[in-house]
Amino acid sequence: MDATVPEAVKIVEGRCRICGARTEVLRLTEFNLKVCPPCFLRFFERRIRRALEKHAMVGEGERVAVAVSGGKDSTALLYALKRLGVVMGFEPVALHFHLAMGGYSDRNLEVVKEQCSRAGIPLKVLLIGDLGLRVQRVKGWTPCAVCGAIKRSLFNREARKMGAQVVATAHTLEDILLFAFKNLLSRNFRLPPPVLPPGDGLARKVKPLYYMPERLNLVYCRLRELPIFEEKCPFWSPHGHALKEVFEHMEKVVPSSKLQLLLSLREVLSLEGMTLSGPKSPCLRCGEPSSQPLCAVCQLGDWFLRGGRRTGDPS
Ligand code: AMP
Ligand code: ZN
Repeated sequence: MDATVPEAVKIVEGRCRICGARTEVLRLTEFNLKVCPPCFLRFFERRIRRALEKHAMVGEGERVAVAVSGGKDSTALLYALKRLGVVMGFEPVALHFHLAMGGYSDRNLEVVKEQCSRAGIPLKVLLIGDLGLRVQRVKGWTPCAVCGAIKRSLFNREARKMGAQVVATAHTLEDILLFAFKNLLSRNFRLPPPVLPPGDGLARKVKPLYYMPERLNLVYCRLRELPIFEEKCPFWSPHGHALKEVFEHMEKVVPSSKLQLLLSLREVLSLEGMTLSGPKSPCLRCGEPSSQPLCAVCQLGDWFLRGGRRTGDPS
């Protein structure tokens, strides 16, 4: 086998379980299935379609802002939604945040631009530096928490400006399991839902890759020869991802156990109130929905404007 082909797309001789052809096949241990590449592409898109329909994620005629980071997950999502939009009658548009991390963010943006032009999808880029924001440690928040808070607030306002009723993120099966697992470790018995309904000025938020193991997103990108931004974020740390290895080990020992675990958790854990932190009211400054008087973006903007000092800190 070509040494440059990553393990994720290892191809062997065999019989495709979908079309029956004796040919080159991919082994999808996650689904106990061997399939040929063309059947894989259809299988992958059909699974996303099933998630969209099962949870009524997107209605006909709606515009969907797809939050694109340029990584394998959101790239696979963007392309699959582009194809599904044609048959299901919705319109995907791409939204990317340039996260003001110097050359890393510039290179990231270039890849996203290339992806969107190849997919023929309009792209909206927001430079968070233009809003006086940046990703860094802030008064006890990790840089990742700051980044997450900025993205969550901005998804909504930018989607609205783009005329989108729906925001789609590329959270995967592993992301959902990780959330649930961390919750369980602190006796919080809630699972992130696949759809957050609209309300209080918020767009509907959907996770079409809710049941999709992330390895398959990479396989999809490789088979469709999609460009992917593969650099690690400057704030990436092995510690932040160590828990995910628990699931990878479990999957290795018991194939398809990640999906089975998620399906079991869905039966016993509550899907209610997972990420909505109480009722929202308009931010006193910018009017965006917020659970505090000032929204996260306005609070962080103030913090950076003051040069990272608390109000009352000596200047
Ligand atoms: P993360 O907070 O990195 O786990 O990302 C959560 C979701 O946000 C991803 O699944 C993407 O859909 C989206 N996302 C991540 N980074 C960006 C970005 N720079 N611009 C737009 N969307 C992003
Ligand atoms: Zn605000």
